[in-house]
Amino acid sequence: MTSPRARTPGAADLPIRDDLRGRDPYGAPQIDVPVRLNTNENPHPPSPRLVRALADAVERAAGSLNRYPDRDAVELRKDLADYLGHGVTADQVWAANGSNEIIQQILQVFGGPGRTALGFEPSYSMHPTIARVSGTEWINADRDADFGIDPQGAIGAIHRHRPDVIFLTSPNNPTGTALPLAVVQEILAVAPGMVVVDEAYAEFRRQGTPSALSLLPGNPRLIVTRTMSKAFAMAGTRLGYLAADPAVLEALLLVRLPYHLSTVTQVVARTAIAHREELLAAVGAIREERDALVGWLRGEGFAVADSDANFVLFGRFGDRGRVWRGLLDKGVLVREVGPPEWLRVTVGLPEEMAVFRTALAEVMGAEVMGETACERDETA
Ligand SMILES: *Cc1c(COP(=O)(O)O)cnc(C)c1O
Repeated sequence: MTSPRARTPGAADLPIRDDLRGRDPYGAPQIDVPVRLNTNENPHPPSPRLVRALADAVERAAGSLNRYPDRDAVELRKDLADYLGHGVTADQVWAANGSNEIIQQILQVFGGPGRTALGFEPSYSMHPTIARVSGTEWINADRDADFGIDPQGAIGAIHRHRPDVIFLTSPNNPTGTALPLAVVQEILAVAPGMVVVDEAYAEFRRQGTPSALSLLPGNPRLIVTRTMSKAFAMAGTRLGYLAADPAVLEALLLVRLPYHLSTVTQVVARTAIAHREELLAAVGAIREERDALVGWLRGEGFAVADSDANFVLFGRFGDRGRVWRGLLDKGVLVREVGPPEWLRVTVGLPEEMAVFRTALAEVMGAEVMGETACERDETA
């Protein structure tokens, strides 16, 4: 496959930090194809009514753009706290430009040179990437065969490495796996530093899967991160947030850039939250579409990881790059990510999923005809 890496020309010739030499930038391909199922966005654009409301809110804010924004985004944080529920208050909520910036701020305060962060892979690649960029050493502890986290193994790794920051992603990207709260609690009990539960996909959890928000009382070193990029259908807004003890927010103020959240971002996010009923309306349908997709893939003989998110990890492929390319040739972009024999597909609109199913069946048919090394999982 092609690897469309946007390397800065000649960066290697510049006096960049030694620890950044030879590193690749984040590079999910942004390819203009009819069916984009590669970055876990909500496929529903805002309605004309919401577009109008967003434009009106920006117009009202535009008259004061000569002034810096509210540095502490107080009103937005109240709205986010109200949305989160679980008794979370505005002084426990912090917001930034995407949860990636939230993660960066966390690592700037609690990680850094001489410190370590530990995660359970396969998981979200930005955790190790942002760790390294912040000078934090990254430690990987493996997930088990079904992509869960074995508490005994996790506790052993924590005792061995004494990490300053632990990342738990639930539901996990790219596997879709949600963690039982008991596992989070066992890890909290032995963690020497901060524990971050990245809940970017929380709204897509299957019924009965609890949120780590319920663990906040009594756990002052727990941070739960969320985003408006996925279920909230606002990836373009760049708004991520966290809930934690107010002392954590006090610490984050040490590293945040002044006025990091623009006035425009704040009003757009607040308007989106005010219209959350509309924005989140599709979540139920996306979950149903996901469960149907899992069933279909298993019926076709693929191995499929259980998913509490808006994407599905499926395999196993002897050469996943060929399948990825075959789908792309049919106008369907999925993601080559995670363990080497698997691909990840985001749940899109019903008609997009129909195109995906047809394309995948055709690609697999061609693979079989070509006698290539593509194994269907016999046990699935
Ligand atoms: C998509 C994603 C994020 C989101 O990032 P934003 O910067 O808020 O768009 C965070 N964590 C995980 C695990 C994700 O998959």
